[in-house]
Amino acid sequence: MPDIIHLLPDSIANQIAAGEVVQRPASAVKELLENSLDAGAKKIQLIIRDAGKQLIQIIDDGAGMSETDARMSLERHATSKIKDAEDLFKLRTMGFRGEALASIAAVSQLELRTRQHHQELGTLIAVEASEIKKQEPISCPVGTSIQVKNLFYNIPARRNFLKGNPVEMKHIVDAFVQQSLARTDVAFMLVHGDEVLFDVAVSKLSQRIVNLFGKNYQEQLATCQMETDLVKITGYVGRPESAKRTRGEQFLFVNNRFIRNNYMHHAIMNGFEGLLPDGSFPFYTLFIDIDPKHIDVNVHPTKTEIKFDDERSVYAYLRAAVKQGLGKHNLAPSLDFAGDVNLTGKISGTAQQSHTDFYNEFKSASGRKAENWESLFDKNATENFQSPSDVMHRDGNQARSEVIRLESSINKEQDRIASPGKVLFQLQQKFIVREVSNGLMIIHQQAAHERVLYDKFIKNLSQSNGASQQSLFPQTAEFSSSDFSLLLELEKELHALGFRFEVFGKTAMLIQGLPIEAVGQEKAVLEGLLEQFKQNKTNLQIPVQENLARALAKRAAIKNGQQLSPEQMSGLVAGLFSSSNPSFSPDGSTTFFIFETSKMDEYFGRS
Ligand code: ADP
Ligand code: MG
Repeated sequence: MPDIIHLLPDSIANQIAAGEVVQRPASAVKELLENSLDAGAKKIQLIIRDAGKQLIQIIDDGAGMSETDARMSLERHATSKIKDAEDLFKLRTMGFRGEALASIAAVSQLELRTRQHHQELGTLIAVEASEIKKQEPISCPVGTSIQVKNLFYNIPARRNFLKGNPVEMKHIVDAFVQQSLARTDVAFMLVHGDEVLFDVAVSKLSQRIVNLFGKNYQEQLATCQMETDLVKITGYVGRPESAKRTRGEQFLFVNNRFIRNNYMHHAIMNGFEGLLPDGSFPFYTLFIDIDPKHIDVNVHPTKTEIKFDDERSVYAYLRAAVKQGLGKHNLAPSLDFAGDVNLTGKISGTAQQSHTDFYNEFKSASGRKAENWESLFDKNATENFQSPSDVMHRDGNQARSEVIRLESSINKEQDRIASPGKVLFQLQQKFIVREVSNGLMIIHQQAAHERVLYDKFIKNLSQSNGASQQSLFPQTAEFSSSDFSLLLELEKELHALGFRFEVFGKTAMLIQGLPIEAVGQEKAVLEGLLEQFKQNKTNLQIPVQENLARALAKRAAIKNGQQLSPEQMSGLVAGLFSSSNPSFSPDGSTTFFIFETSKMDEYFGRS
């Protein structure tokens, strides 16, 4: 028998590798953007035609390549970024596998133009399906320009497999947005056909977010910042009430690399602590900086997966950072946008609007396709997640005590705010205005009272000791048969809250007492509570006790338009700041904010 094993020609080996690295135009875009960033570019232009099927061109002002390097860059496993295996754990570059350009060149017609700053002439190389067609000196600007034409032209099956333009373009926009969030020190531009989709200058992160997503994000961002021995966490989370029903605006970066990690996503969601309506997803752009020796990026060819050696601690820090960010948010609600010179120029007017619309449009166009990352997300989310409380409990370690320390420092901060100053007045029978050390605190009386009552009801439910106000003349009330059976079903909990009633006929109850916090006609209170309970049940899917506490808090809270005495106002404020979460009402709406004196100074043009 003759020997039958032989080495594959490079062109075929590259094509096989390309299957993993380049799945669609957006993957090529990602790799090219990463290369430009690694080359130190400060300005990157991306030009797309026909959703990347006809052309993907990237132009950067980075370091460029020598003639030999230009030729080498197209070889597989050719990289300037690592030398040995140890370097894998010192990575500060986006690339390291040395296979992206070779892979892209194996499945397209590629033209590379590049020049280093000290060279007079640059190099042009043209390749088709890994075969060099041309190499010659050329005059071109410093930096690198790469054109990728007719992706997958030599693999018809692959090309036919591509989705329609809106979907492919959506993926490209995602890749672009990810990189431009990661590197706010670089200017990015994205052009599709004749349309400039994004053109973002170097700016602060808050500004970049606004440039990419739209001006209304300005109001929504809460700053997260934390530094520990292990990690540094920075970035923004969106306020819970602005969370969306669809995913897609969740960005987590580790050492500036966009990553997908369900476990860390869970940590962030957990930091929101029940403030999010069920099935909603908050905006976040968070950065974890960590010594590369603690992570492994070389898990998958696309480099979007990461393993942490101490993922539990990172989890705990991340959760705490988000929690702290949200807690602080109300204390310092407005971001410092004033320092951004290019803010108004960039975001006002219709151009920005169209970017945002565009982005949203593409997001909805791709929907929730099984092949995209969101589904990956879902699968793992249920498969290999420990509940965060598991993590916290089993970890009697440093991370946990760190979190506790942080939480208590948040509480102290809130104490500090709660104690000094005094209630000044009630505004429009809706807000309580109060002086605090750094300005004016404005409290929403209804939202605040909902929080206070909710905490109280949760406690009453768990201890079964809600105080009841007995009626002097118990009343009978008829209920619909479904409400009647719901009352029976909830009897134990309602009793714990302070309701007293007994069956008095087929669908009638004799109501003898109400929780002391509830005022009004017995029947109306119970009916209102059931109504709210049913509404929560359809919208929220929360546990019965939590639902009841929320529903009753909502019904029983003082409403807008109600006059309050100074004592009532002080009592409410004190109650709010000793509650479990003074910043938000149980359904996640804001309870107070501070109009800072420094901001007032700005308004008057003095400081
Ligand atoms: P990797 O990024 O993993 O090193 P690539 O195949 O993406 O592998 O790129 C191969 C090499 O080509 C890089 O290591 C780099 O030296 C060079 N290179 C690629 N793109 C650029 C660019 N835009 N500017 C300068 N050099 C580049
Ligand atoms: Mg690369």
